Formats: sequence, structure tokens, C-alpha cells
Amino acid sequence: MDLFEYQARDIFAAHGVSVLAGKTVDNAGDAAAVASELGTAVVVKAQVKTGGRGKAGGVKLAKSADEAKEKAEAILGLDIKGHIVHQVLVTEASDISEEYYFSFLLDRSNRTFLAMCSSEGGMEIEQLAVERPDALARIAIDPIAGVDKAKADEIVAAGRIPAAVAEEAAHVIVKLWETFVSEDATLVEVNPLVRDPQDKVIALDGKVTLDTNADFRHPAHAELVDERTENPLEAKAKAKGLNYVKLDGGQVGIIGNGAGLVMSTLDVVAYAGEAHGGVKPANFLDIGGGASAQIMADGLDVILGDDEVKSVFVNVFGGITACDAVANGIVEALKILGDDATKQLVVRLDGNNVEEGRRILEEANHPLVTVVGTMDDAAAKAAELASAGAGSHNTTAAGA
Ligand code: GDP
Ligand code: MN
Repeated sequence: MDLFEYQARDIFAAHGVSVLAGKTVDNAGDAAAVASELGTAVVVKAQVKTGGRGKAGGVKLAKSADEAKEKAEAILGLDIKGHIVHQVLVTEASDISEEYYFSFLLDRSNRTFLAMCSSEGGMEIEQLAVERPDALARIAIDPIAGVDKAKADEIVAAGRIPAAVAEEAAHVIVKLWETFVSEDATLVEVNPLVRDPQDKVIALDGKVTLDTNADFRHPAHAELVDERTENPLEAKAKAKGLNYVKLDGGQVGIIGNGAGLVMSTLDVVAYAGEAHGGVKPANFLDIGGGASAQIMADGLDVILGDDEVKSVFVNVFGGITACDAVANGIVEALKILGDDATKQLVVRLDGNNVEEGRRILEEANHPLVTVVGTMDDAAAKAAELASAGAGSHNTTAAGA
């Protein structure tokens, strides 16, 4: 889960990282009040979960309370890359001598954590990374050893942070590592990390992504969820305890048991989809080990609620929950959903008690269900149905 800047800022402050004083408000009058309270020039900042707010007119300096009100009025309601601004953060304005870039992230391809640091921070870090990669230091972090002061010194030197603030920057980096680990984050990014005229090092803008798999360790993180920015299908799936991720631009809904099987199903559907005008998987949904009728119904309910989905591929390998139980689950789920089930389902079953599972589906002879014998053939069928817009033809047939 991505956090808003103000939430990242609160977390930084709680871990001893210097941030600017300020408050988050949802109307212009309150923005003026915060500005008078601070008694300084302020910066009014759009709270949206996307970068480049500055360039989009979402970060504005205000020298007085009246001006803060004006700027807040202009920013609230703004659409920044599809994100509507509901709140603004009003902070004291800092005098900036230099802007640096710093982040910790999970580097999946190298199976480690990574620190990135540059003395040239500010607005365009992606551009810097492409045009002048040497200016952006990348330092792998051993997850066991972590980041102590010595490691932080190494990062600061590699990022060419000036000597005058190297010591303080290293202390900030140690605290950001503590933040990263203790909050179970997969990203902690500060851009810019600024040097002010008194050589203080301050986190001026923060981006934090939390690992939701660790939510059970952080009951307090539940308060950080903002319903207005949640994907409604993901929220519904979460409420039902389903392991669901919506994918952009796909047409084939996917249900499978086991994360590995579901991931390979995504690959197989994407591959099969190439022959059908570039049809793609629409989601990841792992119903886990116990594919009961209720879980199957919940999963189908979420997937069928996705307007982009034109067909559904149910790919199950029977193990402890055997194929006959899964087949009964599908049949019962379709009864539970009744008229809400509107899209063609391609079902591939294999594994424990597969014959009985296929027999149950054939006997049920549901007009929306096509049973296909292999994963490749089922993917091709699902892709074909999706590209045809999942018409009304009855294609109940066994084997392939
Ligand atoms: P982003 O565009 O979404 O990354 O928003 P930032 O919070 O990083 O702000 C963009 C830029 O606005 C920063 O890089 C700064 O140059 C400038 N800025 C933000 N806050 C202040 C401030 O308090 N004082 C000054 N002088 N500039 C600021
Ligand atoms: Mn920024």
C-alpha cells in the first residue's frame, strides 16, 4: 500500500527524521488557519499518491494566510494524473540550499534491499537515472547486516553528499533504515532530502510503500487506508479475505489455487492471448487450499464485478482439496450467484480425483461452463471467448 506524503512524513517524524512543521486539511479556510498558526511562509501541497505534483501545479508557496487560502482553493479538487486532490498538506516553507535524493527499496531482481542516493535530487530522478546513471549511487544492503552508521557513511560517500552535511545525512539514513525495517516497508523514498542554510538535513517530501503481507504485525497501519483511493474490487476482495490483485487492461478473469499456479496461469493466458488480438489476464486471484463453494462464489463475485472481464479461466490443481470438491464448489457457486453469473467460465481441473470432478461438471451441464483438459487449451479457449466478447453461445464440452 502506498501512503500519502503526509502519512510518510508522520512516520518519518515518529522515527526521529527531521520534517517540516505542518498539518493536513481538506478545505481552504483551514489551510489559512494552519498558515496563521505557523506564522511563516508556507507551502501548500496536494496529497495524491503520484509523483510530479510540483510540475502539475500541486505544490505552491504562500507568503500569507490569505495566500495560503487562495493556493489551497486552486489545488483542492485538482486532477493530477487521474488522482483527485481531497487534502492538502500545509507546511512551513523551508529555505533550501541543496536538494538530494535518497531511497531504500526492495530490489526483487537482485533478491536484496537497495539504497539509492544522489546529491542531485529534486523533481526528475527517473530522468537522472536514465541520462546520467553515474550520478545516482546504488548500494546493495545485506538484509541481515542492515544499515549501521558505517554503512550509511558508505552510502553518503557514494551519493557524493557534500562533506559539510555528510555526518547528519548519515544519521538520517540510519533512521530511515529503522523506519524501513520496523514498518515493514518495501519503499522509503525522500525526494528531496534537503540541506537548509543552517546545514540541517530535512526530509521535505516522502513516499512510503508498506508491505501489506505484514499488516498482521501492524494493527495501526489499518488507519492509513483511504477508501477513496482504494480500488473497489480490491477492497471487496480484501473484505472477503481473498488474495486478489487487479491487473490493468486485461479481459480474462483468473481464479486458481496456489500462488505459483496462478502466476503461471497469467503467463499462459498472456501467451495464448497473443493469437486473439492481445487479450490479457485481468487479475490475480489465488483461492488457496480450501476451494469451498463459498470461497469460489466470493472469488467469482469479485471477478464478475470487473466490467473489463469478458471470460473467466478457473484453473485448479486438486490436492488436499480434491477436484470433486472443487467441482461441487463451482456448481454451488454458480447457484449462489444465479443471474449475477453472466460470463463464460473455462474450467481446467487436474490432480486428485480429477475424473470425478470433471464428471460432476459435465453432469451439471451449466450453460456458462466449458471444461477443458489441459492448461494450454483452456487458456486458448478463455482467450478466444474473451476476444469474441464472450458471446452467448453454449460451449459446454469435455476434454481437449
Ligand atoms: P513532487 O513534485 O510531487 O515530488 O513534490 P515535492 O514535495 O518534492 O516538491 C517539489 C519541489 O518543490 C521540491 O523539489 C522543491 O524544489 C519545491 N519545494 C517543496 N517544498 C518547498 C519548501 O518548503 N521550500 C522551497 N523553497 N521549495 C520547496
Ligand atoms: Mn518530490
